[in-house]
Amino acid sequence: MKYMCPVCGYRELTDPPEDYEICPCCGTEFGYDDATFTHEELRRRWLRAGAPWFDYTTPPPANWNPNTQLYEAGYGYTLMGQEADSRVSSSSWPMSLARQGRGISWRLVSLEDQAA
Ligand SMILES: [Zn+2]
Repeated sequence: MKYMCPVCGYRELTDPPEDYEICPCCGTEFGYDDATFTHEELRRRWLRAGAPWFDYTTPPPANWNPNTQLYEAGYGYTLMGQEADSRVSSSSWPMSLARQGRGISWRLVSLEDQAA
């Protein structure tokens, strides 16, 4: 049985996200970090940090991509490229991922951050 992280959408947790289980992807310690912050807040912090892979003793899945992971988990983030005109909506996400393959670098922003 695998569990999904409610912060980053990582689907390979071996234990439920509780009782001090630590997500190897985003580093959230459940029962500790999420006692102080909501999952939404923790997700935003992880994104602001650049959505890094947390646990160096656990390798990320092959072809791991935090953008894809968040999208597939249904978390409402959009991608924004470095260029202003490459701002995209989540509905055009598959296209965005294709463009990523052409060497455009991305950062993740929340809808809230975009509005600011
Ligand atoms: Zn996580």
